[in-house]
Amino acid sequence: MSTLSATAVPMSTTYEVAHQKCINVDCGATYSIDEVLTSCPKCHDLLDVAYDWNKVSVPKSLREFESKWLERHNPIRFSGVWRFHELLPFAPHHKIVTVGEGQTLLQQADSVAKYVGIRPGKLYLQYEGMNPSGSFKDNGMCAAFTHAHMVGAKRAACASTGNTSASLAMYCAVTQLMKAVIFIGTGKISYGKLSQALEYGALTVQIAGDFDDAMARVKEVSKELGIYLVNSINPFRLEGQKSVMFRVLEALRWESPDWIVVPGGNLGNSSAFGKAFIELKELGLIDRIPRLAVINAGGADTLDVLYNQRNLRWNRGRARMDIACWYYDELDKGKVKADTIASAIEINRPVNLKKCLRALDFCDGVVRQVSDQEILDAKAQVGAGGIGCEPASAASVAGAKLLRQQGVIGMDDRVVCILTGHQLKDPTATVAYHTTDQDKFNEVLGSRGVTRASFANRAVAVPNDVDAIVKAIQLYS
Ligand SMILES: *Cc1c(COP(=O)(O)O)cnc(C)c1O
Ligand SMILES: [Zn+2]
Repeated sequence: MSTLSATAVPMSTTYEVAHQKCINVDCGATYSIDEVLTSCPKCHDLLDVAYDWNKVSVPKSLREFESKWLERHNPIRFSGVWRFHELLPFAPHHKIVTVGEGQTLLQQADSVAKYVGIRPGKLYLQYEGMNPSGSFKDNGMCAAFTHAHMVGAKRAACASTGNTSASLAMYCAVTQLMKAVIFIGTGKISYGKLSQALEYGALTVQIAGDFDDAMARVKEVSKELGIYLVNSINPFRLEGQKSVMFRVLEALRWESPDWIVVPGGNLGNSSAFGKAFIELKELGLIDRIPRLAVINAGGADTLDVLYNQRNLRWNRGRARMDIACWYYDELDKGKVKADTIASAIEINRPVNLKKCLRALDFCDGVVRQVSDQEILDAKAQVGAGGIGCEPASAASVAGAKLLRQQGVIGMDDRVVCILTGHQLKDPTATVAYHTTDQDKFNEVLGSRGVTRASFANRAVAVPNDVDAIVKAIQLYS
């Protein structure tokens, strides 16, 4: 990418140090990085990007990554993902694609800490909504897009609840390297996200079905037409998403927090975070592993059910995936569809389930579910503390509050909640929560079991008259 990676940093080709590896311990097949695969051709399990670390010049200490920021005139160093290139060394420098993703903020949020029940100073919000397309998806998309570019793809596709498509469409539009084809379900995508895909010029295919249907179709169609698939089943996406943890550690002066709390949809983030910690530990770059909490929405609670009720575990790589299959059969028989206001995690068949089990195993993790009521109240609190987030993101804060109430998270624990998407992604949910119009509230939220807006900041209606306005301001301020 000559225009975007102006100066290539000289470095030996890291290209040969990476391969793709099946996560099934009884298979373990490896494949070249040049192959475009969405699962193991032998056993159909998920693939990892794996490295021969002996051949990579990984810095001796994580602190060394800070010096790379001094070279931020170079787009590769400016990127909050590629600044950590040595920890995801699958692409040669001249193929790296970046649009400046990963310029994020870890903010100490004392008012939210109070809401969650944690001592002020101990709760942090990782604002991934600050990414160029407004969600954490850009971290993974720049990596998958780079791989697509490496293998010479001309079209890239994804099924999306909104943010993946917005991100893919943006990378296509900025770089003009590929054409984006996006699959969305009917009636579920928020306007903020849909507007991005349309404006960035993606070919938008709306399926009469939900996300899980769109996901199934995009796999079939991509295969038939030879289109590069960038859903989080794509192992390169997760490589980029590891950088969220690198930046959290960096912001904490390379000290691990006690907890990472993240919403769970397709479970790409939680899987990537686990892989990041597995590798950092293996490389001797961290001592202490944070605990991981993955939070489902009550209306899309597959992970919570499988983990907490049916005891599905990583089991040293031999997870009983038949337990998941039986559960999916039950969902089909009962015609159960995912349903939550947190549309970005409205997913009942999480594609990265097995990798997430590995992350939970390594990080001594826990799984919980929270209701739409809890999500929206937490979202209102996050917004009231500034910057804000979209509904799915607030599941992390609602989950932290629940785990605090249950005594799993301690009052003095240092907790990082990942805010996955920008406040402006889904204004419909926010406005419905704060509205004075009961019909509007019921229309958007009532069907989801949300009965009250505990932290609503309602607009004050006044006549078009100075005296009345003055009176109202005096009354309410
Ligand atoms: C995609 C997305 C999620 C879900 O992340 P997974 O990695 O699929 O679990 C959560 N929040 C937002 C805003 C998203 O866009
Ligand atoms: Zn395999």
